[in-house]
Amino acid sequence: MMKKLAIISFLICASNLTFAQSENDLSFFNKKNLTSLAKKANQQAIQEIQHPVLREVANQIKNGNYPLGERFKTYESFLDPKILAKELKTSPYSQFENPTGIYFSANEEVLVWVEENENQKLNLLVTNWDDEHFRMHSYPLKAGLNKFQVKDKGNSYIQHFYEEGKPFKKLKIHILSGKINGVFDARKDDNNKYQKILSSAHGPVIDLVGKKVHLAYSKESLKNGTPENGKGLVALYDSIIHIQHEIMGLVKYKKEPKNHMFGRVIWKGFMHADGLGAAFHDNTMKDLADINRLRKNSWGVAHEFGHVNQVRPNMKWTGTTEVTNNIYSVWTQYLYNSHSPKLEHEKLKDYDEPKIGGRITAYMESAFVHNQPWLTQAGPDRWDRERKRDWGGDHFVKLVPLWQLQLYFHEVGAGKKWGNKNFYWDIFYKAIQEPVTDQESESYYQLQFVKNACKVSGLDLTDFFKKSGILAPINLIVDDYTVGRMLITDQDIQEVEKYASQFPKPSSPVIHYLTANSISIFKNQEVLKGKINEGFSKEKDRLIIDNLAWPGAVAFETYQGDKLVKVAFRGAGFTNNQHTIVHLPIGSTKVKAIGWNGEKIDVI
Ligand SMILES: [Zn+2]
Repeated sequence: MMKKLAIISFLICASNLTFAQSENDLSFFNKKNLTSLAKKANQQAIQEIQHPVLREVANQIKNGNYPLGERFKTYESFLDPKILAKELKTSPYSQFENPTGIYFSANEEVLVWVEENENQKLNLLVTNWDDEHFRMHSYPLKAGLNKFQVKDKGNSYIQHFYEEGKPFKKLKIHILSGKINGVFDARKDDNNKYQKILSSAHGPVIDLVGKKVHLAYSKESLKNGTPENGKGLVALYDSIIHIQHEIMGLVKYKKEPKNHMFGRVIWKGFMHADGLGAAFHDNTMKDLADINRLRKNSWGVAHEFGHVNQVRPNMKWTGTTEVTNNIYSVWTQYLYNSHSPKLEHEKLKDYDEPKIGGRITAYMESAFVHNQPWLTQAGPDRWDRERKRDWGGDHFVKLVPLWQLQLYFHEVGAGKKWGNKNFYWDIFYKAIQEPVTDQESESYYQLQFVKNACKVSGLDLTDFFKKSGILAPINLIVDDYTVGRMLITDQDIQEVEKYASQFPKPSSPVIHYLTANSISIFKNQEVLKGKINEGFSKEKDRLIIDNLAWPGAVAFETYQGDKLVKVAFRGAGFTNNQHTIVHLPIGSTKVKAIGWNGEKIDVI
């Protein structure tokens, strides 16, 4: 889900940086940065310090229990997330880099010392993640001692962004007031530190930082889900984002950003992505803050971060907002759980009945039997294609052909000359680099995707794209958060075909039947075998195929005369891939088994 967010961000000017009694108070400290005491600061003299925070700091330094490491830190500068978003054509990465680990209460006075710098733009950001009253306030910081009052409670961050060229130099900053919440930095901290933060953080939300991710999750959910292995949890989130960076080509082309992607807890709604990053309700954390459960089902996390990483508009044109981000989710889910591919194993209603793999059988019937254009293909989430506002279909049904391409080039093609595990890497990277055109129709991007798929694979994939309904005539207002007209003409199609004709056709003419169940058949080019009227049990309106008796069959087609009426991919209806449900509507005359090379054998 995508949401537009009105960010509440008041820029509040810090009060005058000098304060009346300060000179005397400051004279008790040895250094400007207030990290050690002057010679004269003996136990008794310290009590003369007027400012209560400074007096407390001096006392603690004297007693040797001042948590200097938590309060005096070095902060990096990051590329302004708006500029990075422009470069990558994504929505912005974290605006909350540099968590300080210091929590402020509402109206609390902030006392913070900042190292001399070249007028670098610096803000202290105080953000309330604690409850549904999200607030974010930004306070500019200058070199020297800053003193001001915060309006609202929350975790704090040092915003230190550069806009071009090289990063600013790192800055030392000493935050003397506020309560210690702690930051878990998985890049350098161990799990002892993580456990200590869980038991001692002052506020209800904790900042966890990895190489690629920054999470602000509730302490309670972390205590319940991952009481010990904070490093493992952050590593899993880093890995989910790394998979997206791979698909985007950023790993291959060495463009991985230093900026983090941001995920946070919310207290209303479910999960979504918006201008701040990904957002997950606290009650989803039983799955999201638990390493094993998240590995098992990473779909939601990959989907929401995937929204941020949707390359727009080139890989997110009208009708695809809830589709192209799932290129990330479906692959992530598969990498962690290859034995249980989601689309093949989920039980969902197709045109006939609730069925294992129903999303795919719905797709195949919508596309190959009813010839529905891709963005309007019906399925369990939307059967009524035409509505007042728009034409639309099932977002997961639309994902199927994009999934098949990944399976074909990454899995079937592994170790083959034409194989290309970079397939999406190159497509996305091209999408990042290609100019944004003010085209009249959104179809430009859809057609460009088809061309790029051919270019990147070095194959003429137009047969596949025609079958899938992606390269098919359409002139409809299609469903999305903002609807748009999708117009593809016969002439557009001819132009794409002409472009693609410079490449050879793929070895298989039936990539549109590929699923995770038939990878090995395509890969090993297994010969289609079977005897007519054998190798199945017949029920009233269906055959239950014994897959062992039909080796090499990637799909089964049911005909009424010459007319294709039903399609079953290998293993449809079963998670063990031992059988296949083939429907026989009234009037069916034939069932054919289909081989990887397009060969057909009669089953009945
Ligand atoms: Zn979504």
